[in-house]
Amino acid sequence: MHEVDMTKALILTVRDWWQAQPQAPTVTKIHLIVGQFTCVEPASLRYAFQAQTQNTFLAGAELAIAEVPLVAFCHACEQEYSPQIGTQYTCPTCQSPMAEIRSGRELKIDRIECTQRSPPKDNPVGTITKSAESRQVE
Ligand SMILES: [Zn+2]
Repeated sequence: MHEVDMTKALILTVRDWWQAQPQAPTVTKIHLIVGQFTCVEPASLRYAFQAQTQNTFLAGAELAIAEVPLVAFCHACEQEYSPQIGTQYTCPTCQSPMAEIRSGRELKIDRIECTQRSPPKDNPVGTITKSAESRQVE
């Protein structure tokens, strides 16, 4: 299944990023850009992601998928057009075969939302213990 392998690659990429972070942040949302021409089904991708992130550092993280439509460029007409995936890839004006894809093959992480664990504040411990210095009443 296409989406399962895709998800594995995605998780590995995010994990590399995550491990490079000094504070080990909690990932809340991953924004993905998915081109229509990658033939990735957003619903399947979400499902695979949820299944594969259980009990990992990504458990509970949300997947936000932005789809990018397929846009091709015809060199003969020097213009962009939108091919119909699965039915018509040729230029609607001159019928040239699809030669150049301008967008629609993207599959990348746009950004990652996370919450930083609050770093320990360097309050001197002494300020807390002072109140405990109660005097023994004679
Ligand atoms: Zn054309």
